[in-house]
Amino acid sequence: MLFRDLKQQYQMLKPQIEKAVSGVLSDCDFIAGAPVRELETRLAEYVGVRHCITCANGTEAIELALLAFGIGRGDAVFVPDFTFFATAEMPAARGAMPVFVDVDASTFNLDPEKLEQAVLHVISEGRLCPRAIIAVDLFGQCADYRAIMAIAAKYDLILIEDAAQGFGGRLGEQRACSFGDIAATSFFPSKPLGCYGDGGAVFTDDDRTAELIRSFAVHGRGMHKYENVRVGINSRLDTLQAAVLLVKLNAFTNFELEAVNTVANWYTDRLGDLVSTPVVKMGFYSSWAQYTIQLKNLEKRRSVQERLNASGIPTMVYYPKSLHRQPAFADLPIYEKCPVAEHLCETVLSLPIHPYMTKREVQEVVSCLKEGLQ
Ligand SMILES: *Cc1c(COP(=O)(O)O)cnc(C)c1O
Repeated sequence: MLFRDLKQQYQMLKPQIEKAVSGVLSDCDFIAGAPVRELETRLAEYVGVRHCITCANGTEAIELALLAFGIGRGDAVFVPDFTFFATAEMPAARGAMPVFVDVDASTFNLDPEKLEQAVLHVISEGRLCPRAIIAVDLFGQCADYRAIMAIAAKYDLILIEDAAQGFGGRLGEQRACSFGDIAATSFFPSKPLGCYGDGGAVFTDDDRTAELIRSFAVHGRGMHKYENVRVGINSRLDTLQAAVLLVKLNAFTNFELEAVNTVANWYTDRLGDLVSTPVVKMGFYSSWAQYTIQLKNLEKRRSVQERLNASGIPTMVYYPKSLHRQPAFADLPIYEKCPVAEHLCETVLSLPIHPYMTKREVQEVVSCLKEGLQ
């Protein structure tokens, strides 16, 4: 069994993917070819915003968002303590201070109350300028944007949506990648919508911000290619990846998103009485980047993981270390305690999930898990 079965997906989509790839090969238009713009148009339409700018990966999508708003030295950027490293790495790389905020115990997403406390703490200390929030759509479920947007408005903070795991999710009728001032996503192969290498995109409704992103992503270019009006980076999605993504986006919207939700429901129906299963809040729709259960403690998690492993069932611990405990951030001041994030690091376990998983495979995981619990 595979944790995320990309081989099966490839077998399903093989004729279309090979046609798309060979089209790019014969055109030799490897950078900024027609499929790139076509993909940007389709992604913006799907998400429901005016602009999508593709880039090289999800990490640089976050970096481009920070560049567009001039976030850097002296700025405080509020990030959840329980997420992938890149969410805090990019603000730190730009010279800003990541301020780690605890997460909600049921959704594992940024806790709005703790967020406001952290903002007030930074304000009262008076050393940093509170500038931005990066909210993460962890494991496929949107953060609590209704509450977070209110806090962003109250304290005049820029809101960045880190939707690297969130593409395809919804809050009410609004799709992930459309919240806040700007959103970043990733097309890393194992993300909800993945390409065949690295890829990413930035989304915004604001024309001026979109223009800035297009400039920053290509060495700060001005009106033409060899005029550079600002210091930027080089971050592009290549044409081959765009061509692959055009095929995969069809599959994603036509059946994969629904199929992965069916698989998640199979799990929850069978596991609900045994372990703590993922909570998708009322009005939210997840794209299930991960299906993450919680065990009682570190020992239980270890025994369940070993039992599953013995039967060839792969599992992952996302995440074993909260951000403020990462060695790279050891020198940063700690503004808030994050007990929920620390507890999650000891108890979470992500199970195999993907749109092509069968009911039988789910049953197999569940049976082994039951044995591991004894
Ligand atoms: C994967 C991920 C990223 C980074 O995306 P890459 O394409 O791997 O650079 C950023 N944030 C979160 C929450 C992620 O899961």
